[in-house]
Amino acid sequence: IITAKQHSPPFPPKRGAMPEPKHFKNYIGGAWVEAAGGERYENRNPADTEDLVSTHPSSDARDVDAAVAAAKEAFEGWRLVPAPERGLLIMKAVEILKARKEEISQMMTREMGKVIAETRGDTQEAIDCGAYAAGEGRRLFGRHTPVEMRNKFGMAIRQPVGVCGMITPWNFPLAIPSWKMFPALVCGNTCVIKPATLTPASVANFMEVFEEAGFPPGVVNMVTGGGSTVGRAIVEHPDVNRVSFTGSVEIGNLLAGQCGALGKPFSAELGGKNAQIVMDDANLPLALDGVLWGAFGTTGQRCTATSRLILHEKIHDAFVEMLVERAKKLKVGNGLDETVDMGPAVSEDQLKTDLYYIEVGLKEDKAELVLGGKRLTGGAYDNGFFIEPTIFTGVKPGMRLEQEEIFGPVLSVIKVGSFEEAIRVQNDTAFGLSSSIYTENVNLAFKAIQDIEAGITYINGPTIGAEVHLPFGGVKGTGNGHREAAWTVLDFYTEWKSVYVEFSGKLQ
Ligand code: NAP
Repeated sequence: IITAKQHSPPFPPKRGAMPEPKHFKNYIGGAWVEAAGGERYENRNPADTEDLVSTHPSSDARDVDAAVAAAKEAFEGWRLVPAPERGLLIMKAVEILKARKEEISQMMTREMGKVIAETRGDTQEAIDCGAYAAGEGRRLFGRHTPVEMRNKFGMAIRQPVGVCGMITPWNFPLAIPSWKMFPALVCGNTCVIKPATLTPASVANFMEVFEEAGFPPGVVNMVTGGGSTVGRAIVEHPDVNRVSFTGSVEIGNLLAGQCGALGKPFSAELGGKNAQIVMDDANLPLALDGVLWGAFGTTGQRCTATSRLILHEKIHDAFVEMLVERAKKLKVGNGLDETVDMGPAVSEDQLKTDLYYIEVGLKEDKAELVLGGKRLTGGAYDNGFFIEPTIFTGVKPGMRLEQEEIFGPVLSVIKVGSFEEAIRVQNDTAFGLSSSIYTENVNLAFKAIQDIEAGITYINGPTIGAEVHLPFGGVKGTGNGHREAAWTVLDFYTEWKSVYVEFSGKLQ
């Protein structure tokens, strides 16, 4: 076991150099307002808990009522704004995001820990999503079709649905909210969003962007606070017509039941247990870069993270050796340091989950720990939630390490003897979000595209790296059939209306 002793905490910026905390309010009806109950909570840096990033209202159902009322009122005007004009306003927001990219990304690193290169990527994804949605303002295609009668016209058009509720997780604090809000807005809907309690500042910054862009009051609204209070109130509010959720399976399934009982359309993007397959003919250095980034990027806290590595037996030992050599060199520390590769776990709870699964791997699954496995302590590490990049080999299909979502930098390596076995292992989970195969064999690549049960398959690329103009989502336990991003998300934020126009002047 390599204990990753080489991690000496690199910790610029120095204490005292941190910006002053920002004190945000809720954004309701175009105004910044305190929660009705007057309570607030602190948002601290998981890399350095002495760094107070921001404070936020701890809201309740009364604040949700106010936000939904504002959104309902604003809908009557917003739905009639021509879609190309809505697109232009979104483009203004995109320009402001571009101008504020560095500052927003820095605050994001401070509030959730992932390294600055990745939070820049998160902000960039919001920029890309906005640009794509703005273009939809000039499309939002419906359909025309011939009809059975003469002098009669038939078409189907998209109509907005009204107030949309959005509940988002902490791992993509800006990208995921943007995936929901920009498409909803271009379709003519109004929004009430509840960000994750751990990452409210990024969404508060997003509200500032909408405000500066000149969105009419009430079109976008943000209420911060707990899931079981604010989130629940959004789901149950009779004037919220749709709920879009990204988060854990546990909460997703709970909300699916609630929305089902209320007859409310519900879009769920949930967990993953994504695998990268490496065949014996693969370009191994390329596959190595892929798994390092896929497994340890964002400290393994991506829904698309590579949590399982399925290796052909012919290259297994050599690949594991290369992998451990590279992974032990990953620099763990404060994500604001440009030379750091991996930040902390997002919270103490998530760190405990990671350590719990490492115990499960050792004691219950009896897999072989070949790298890491411990919390990083000493010096500045003591102020944050740092953990070593961790690799288990000898993991067998069906073990808990292999089946359950950990959401941390813990990679399980599974040895297989053939392509068919690799596909069987890949598919044998409750989830189906992302997947990847490295092979130089074009026939195997296409067989993998055909046979892998997942919403996303990468050939010779890691399990991460989605683009906003291709559908995003998963099969099986990962979701409920909806897709975010691309043209597919428009089906969630619009209702189809079929229109028949009679111009024969008679009853046909
Ligand atoms: P989570 O605990 O399910 O929380 C997600 C959101 O739901 C948060 O805003 C949370 O609020 C809220 N919430 C909690 N309880 C609620 C309730 N009873 N009613 C309404 N809302 C409630 O998930 P997370 O820990 O933030 O995120 C990690 C999970 O998200 C992982 O499982 C990951 O796979 C998944 N994820 C999936 C995708 C995808 O696209 N498939 C993308 C990213 C993440 P609080 O923050 O206040 O608890």
